[in-house]
Amino acid sequence: MTGRPLQQTSDSDVSKLDPGFVGEIAGSFNDRRLQLFILPTEKCNFRCTYCYEKFDIGRMKPATVKAVKAFIDRRIHQLDVLSVEWFGGEPLLAKPVIIDVAQHIHSSLASNSPVMYSGSMTTNGYLLDGDTATTLIRLGVRSFQISLDGPPDVHDESRVRADGSGSFSEIWRNLLTLRRSDLSFEVMLRLHFTPATAARLYSLIDLINDAFAEDSRFKVVFKAVTRLGGENDHKLELFHPQAERDAIASFQQHLRHKSQLITHGRYEPKICYAAKPNSFVIRADGRLGKCTVALYDDRNTVGHITEDGRIAIDNDKLRPWMNGFETLSLKELGCPVRAL
Ligand code: SF4
Repeated sequence: MTGRPLQQTSDSDVSKLDPGFVGEIAGSFNDRRLQLFILPTEKCNFRCTYCYEKFDIGRMKPATVKAVKAFIDRRIHQLDVLSVEWFGGEPLLAKPVIIDVAQHIHSSLASNSPVMYSGSMTTNGYLLDGDTATTLIRLGVRSFQISLDGPPDVHDESRVRADGSGSFSEIWRNLLTLRRSDLSFEVMLRLHFTPATAARLYSLIDLINDAFAEDSRFKVVFKAVTRLGGENDHKLELFHPQAERDAIASFQQHLRHKSQLITHGRYEPKICYAAKPNSFVIRADGRLGKCTVALYDDRNTVGHITEDGRIAIDNDKLRPWMNGFETLSLKELGCPVRAL
């Protein structure tokens, strides 16, 4: 998926840290908090032109699903906060796995309150039909990140299905179905652009303004497409950083309401989840990682989950991910893989 980019910050004097950042550091070391990114499959029904994934690991096997549930059972009574983000590949290709684990968490929470739980998913949105969304939301998976690359003709050029056909119309239909529901959820529309497509993004913003501006469950974030290691990286035209900032400022102005922006009125995290000691990626084959982007970098395999629900960690491989807390470099904390 492209929905979870590496976070970037710039170096600065840590003595001037704001309280939000200090809280973020403290939260990163709090073992009563646990953040999991679970990849129930690494296959995908799309072949986005800029994707960095290889789609080589299929649906999580029953033994690994059992291990994930056992791990949650071991930890949940020690937790104040549990965050589970479903990621892939396209996670909804493994919907039974998600429902199985989400149902398990839902039941565990009932007997282990009060744990503050948030369930979310980065999905391409193609399989997020009304019934699926209703089931997930009832099980506590309430936040969805869905990417759109422009108006239909532009989007369909880059968010291509595995059979080569376009995907906009089905995603849009699913979004409208969600809007018509009275369910409680948040959809973050991640709007991608490149130097070649930026001028067309305004047409998509117009569509979004008309369809979703008055529904506070729908938010928007703008992201330039970047090179994340995919086979087409050499073909991707990149923005100069200032041109990218200018483009984003212009897109934001085009929104009907400032409140449509995901960042509106929120503290923006500065520490990447991959740097945090209490955050792990659980791969579809049971390996444990730190980063959802560097999936094919051996340094990102820091352990595995065992059948009885323990996590076996190689501390020599885990330690470098947390270097930023020693150096207090905001660059390292913002994207630890770049400093490994
Ligand atoms: S939806 Fe696109 S970017 Fe995400 S994993 Fe599938 S092919 Fe890659």
